[in-house]
Amino acid sequence: MLDFLNVPFYRHDLTAADSEAMARVLATPFLTSGPVGREVEAQIATFHGIPHALLTNSWTNGALAVLLALGVKHGDEVIVPAMTFIASANVVELLGAKPIFVDVDPDTLLMTPAAVAAALTPRTKAIIPVHLYGQMCDVRGMREVLRDRPDVRIVEDCAHCFEGTRDGERPGVWSDAAVFSFYTTKNVACGEGGAITCRDPALYERLQQTRLHGMDATAINRYQKSRYRHWDMLCLGVKANLPDLLAALLPPQIAAVERRLQVRKDLVEHYRAGFADGPLRLVASEPGTVGAEHMFLIHVGAIRDTAIDILNEAGIGIGVHYRSVPTATYYAERYGYTSSDHPISAEWGAGTLTLPLYVSLTRDEQDHVIDTVRRLIYPLLKNAQQS
Ligand SMILES: *Cc1c(COP(=O)(O)O)cnc(C)c1O
Repeated sequence: MLDFLNVPFYRHDLTAADSEAMARVLATPFLTSGPVGREVEAQIATFHGIPHALLTNSWTNGALAVLLALGVKHGDEVIVPAMTFIASANVVELLGAKPIFVDVDPDTLLMTPAAVAAALTPRTKAIIPVHLYGQMCDVRGMREVLRDRPDVRIVEDCAHCFEGTRDGERPGVWSDAAVFSFYTTKNVACGEGGAITCRDPALYERLQQTRLHGMDATAINRYQKSRYRHWDMLCLGVKANLPDLLAALLPPQIAAVERRLQVRKDLVEHYRAGFADGPLRLVASEPGTVGAEHMFLIHVGAIRDTAIDILNEAGIGIGVHYRSVPTATYYAERYGYTSSDHPISAEWGAGTLTLPLYVSLTRDEQDHVIDTVRRLIYPLLKNAQQS
């Protein structure tokens, strides 16, 4: 039989050079936000072709800083897709606003301009399109839908999509702000971290405050000229700045982002070829987009949990991205949602599982995953379809 291979769900590929980059920060007096982060911010702004970038300590805190800066508050509605990670909705809920969940496209699982149009009310304050699995939503189409509602802000959830494009454009072109995550499993990662990009200089200035307690100067600036300076608090903010210790891991990954994307593209192509003749449902490609290839999902329907056990048993790490957010106990109890309110998300979320996909995944490991799925999951699917 096969040699037993343990294929983790995720494995980073940081090297000794990254340890040295962290060690250089350790040798400086301040470990928190400083010159390293400012260089990374410039690197991100340049990569995306957007004038302003700010590092944050997570997507979640970055999104909170953005929504605070845009004035999202109690009584406001914010449109979010039902198929996403809980954080996309939690940030709305945390500010006392109401997440309005919309269902997604059945083939790409992306939020659509039509869904935004249908969910719009006089209370809508913002929308949070999610570039799920790395494919970009039609943000330009959403802007078009909102042409008579300049008061409705667009905040892109780019946690899966640092490097994707749609019609040749990167995130941040049609929105007020784009928010990224550098959480450990993301395409660009430093353990915990994130970034915001925006075009409006006034929003950028306000974000510098809402990112750091609402203060008018960072801790570093306060001591910069070795003279203490008083600071003021101008608005309510969160604590969302990224320490240089973690920012030091980002520059080489951002510089190599296209090469790393190509590695994942090749892996995705190998998965697709391996499953081409089989019974699995896969995520369809969104026209005009170059996806960031963040995840590779298969949909196996009712046998999903059995399939996860079998794959785990074979040493393969599996994820689920995601169970429909409004069906989570908190949202179901708070707003009375059931799975029939967002049937596409509910059905996808009940039947999908995510296979390992990362730059350090070897061909042998990937072949083990493909073989195992074909050998052990295909027969289960055939039986399930017959009964
Ligand atoms: C990971 C993720 C987030 C949250 O990112 P953090 O950096 O962990 O806060 C938000 N949205 C989506 C779609 C994600 O996958």
